[in-house]
Order: sequence, then C-alpha cells, then structure tokens
Amino acid sequence: MASPHPNLELRPLGNTGLKLSCVGFGASPLGKVFGPVSEDDAIASVRQAFSRGINFFDTSPYYGGTLSEKMLGKALKALGAPRNEYIVSTKCGRYAEGFDFSAERVTRSIDESLERLQLDYVDILQCHDIEFGSLDQIVNETIPALQKLKEVGKIRFIGITGLPLGIFTYVLDRVPPGTVDVILSYCHYSINDSTLLDILPYLKSKGVGIISASPLAMGLLTENGPPEWHPASPELKSACQAAAAYCKEKGKNISKLAMQYSLSNKDISTVLVGMNSVRQVEENVTAAIELATFGKDQQTLAEIEAIVSPVKNQTWPSGIQHS
Ligand code: NAD
Repeated sequence: MASPHPNLELRPLGNTGLKLSCVGFGASPLGKVFGPVSEDDAIASVRQAFSRGINFFDTSPYYGGTLSEKMLGKALKALGAPRNEYIVSTKCGRYAEGFDFSAERVTRSIDESLERLQLDYVDILQCHDIEFGSLDQIVNETIPALQKLKEVGKIRFIGITGLPLGIFTYVLDRVPPGTVDVILSYCHYSINDSTLLDILPYLKSKGVGIISASPLAMGLLTENGPPEWHPASPELKSACQAAAAYCKEKGKNISKLAMQYSLSNKDISTVLVGMNSVRQVEENVTAAIELATFGKDQQTLAEIEAIVSPVKNQTWPSGIQHS
C-alpha cells in the first residue's frame, strides 16, 4: 500500500487541526478543463501524488460537469489507503447548469458529491465562487445549511472560494467566529499577482485556513500557455508568455519558479496546483523539495518579476458587482 512520503512539508490549516501537504492536488484538470486526460492518467496522477506525500485533493461538481469528482473518486478508491490519510475538499453552489446557493440545493449537492466521490464524508465543503451569488444569502442561508451538514458528519469543515478578495472579508466580518474554517483564493499569489498578501494578516487574525490556488495562474505561467477560455487580458497573457520564453532560453522552467514563489510564503497552508499527469506531479513535488533544500532562485525570479512588472497585480472581473 502507498504511504505518504516524509519529505513534503505539512502545514496547519488554520484552526482545523488538519495538516495539509504544502503542495495540494487540484483536480479540475481531471474534469478535462485544461484538455483531454485519460482515466488511466487520472488514476496514475493521484497515486503518484499520494505516494509522494500529497495528502490534499480538491474538486467541485462544477469541474467538467461532475467528471472531476467522478474521476477523483475512482482514483482515491484505487489507492486503497485508509480514509484518514487523505483530505478531500469539494464545493457546492456552482454547477454546469448555473449557480444555486440555496440551503435546499447545497444540502442535496453534498449527497450527490459523496456518491460521485465514493466517500462517506468530505473534509471540507466550500461555497464555490460566491461572488456570483448574494453574499448575504451565503451568510444567512448557505453557511447555516453547511453547519447542519457538519453536525450530521457529512462534512468536517466549511469554506468559501472566489476571485475578488473583498468577498472573504465581507463574509468573515458577518459570521460568528469559527463558522467559516477555510478560504480558497485563486490567482492572487503567483509571480504576476500577489494581492493575497494584503489580507493575510486579517485572515490569520480570524484563524481561518488559507488555501492559495492556481500558482501557475491557470496556465499563464507554463511553457504551453493558458487554455482558450483564460480570462486574462492580451497584455497579461503576452507578458507571461515573454517571461516563459525568457526562462526557457535560460534553461529554466517557469512553472517550477512559479511553484517555488507561491510555496515560499508559509502563511499559506497549501498551494493548490492543477495536475493531470505523473510528470506534472513529479515536477511540482520536486519544486517543493528543492525549495526546502536549496531556497529560491532569487536571480531568475527577479528577472521574471521585472518582465511582468507592467502587468503586476492585474486581474479580471468576476461575478456580480457588489457595492
Ligand atoms: P494552476 O495555476 O494550478 O494551473 C493548472 C495548469 O497548469 C493545468 O493545465 C496543468 O496541467 C498545468 N500544470 C501543472 N503543473 C505543471 C507543471 N509542472 N508544468 C507545466 N504545467 C503544469 O490552475 P488551476 O488548475 O485552475 O488551479 C489549481 C486548483 O485549484 C484547481 O484544479 C482547483 O482544484 C482549485 N481552484 C479553485 C478555484 C475556485 O474554487 N474558485 C479556482 C481556481 C482553482
């Protein structure tokens, strides 16, 4: 049976008592969100991740219209590992057919997710991309519904996810302390955008676990570049492309540098990177281990930061505008 690799650092997730591997496995690519992936590759990637010490796996019913949850469920079952050796998060409120954060829908959603994942419980259930809903509904209806799911043991912890950072403070300012255990922010702690830094002290003061997703900026910081649907502006895309080309010319890998950039902030509990091949798992785990052993490649990082500086912290609109 596979057993966790001792070398990948574990970090506490806020006040949950959970310890997450510093590299987390983002399973959206298993829903073919970034291109085709076979079932064999999906299962092999999850197996490789677990055997190399990755204990955290994140999915959503939205990814690939439930395909990601189904693939992850099969892959976790194939591991044959004791359930308490891995941590699973999924989401609710966002579906292929649209958004629905009502108590009725999210309560039904967890049963559907558990069936697809072939699990009795998930460790974390997160309200998915809450900027597309009413934040007051999240506070007054969705989170109380999730608390009931906690009481009956279908979930252990509650989280919220989304792009604009203001959504986290809005909700955390309005719920009783300890109600929201975790936040998942994406595309805000990578070489081209580090705005998550602005709210880290606030999040720490609230005792919430901090998951930072998309260290590769959803493909911008890769040699292959982003998928068609990527929402970045042409300027941001071309600056990242120039940075990737510069790295390649120097014999460096932009994705490795991007992983190391995100991993080096220890206030972040886990860096959630989307993976769909054994090779990517190996590269990302190796990036973490080399960072712990040798530190960052400061010089190349500074050179890349200079290339992306004209678009630093540039983002894109997401969700309904909240005043
Ligand atoms: P990412 O920045 O992790 O990039 C993923 C892309 O990079 C994929 O195409 C992947 O195949 C590729 N990749 C991975 N490792 C690589 C390597 N070493 N070299 C080259 N390419 C590599 O973006 P992401 O997948 O969107 O984010 C990670 C995870 O975080 C998601 O899978 C999901 O679980 C979670 N997430 C959640 C939300 C949300 O809740 N709103 C939003 C974004 C991401």
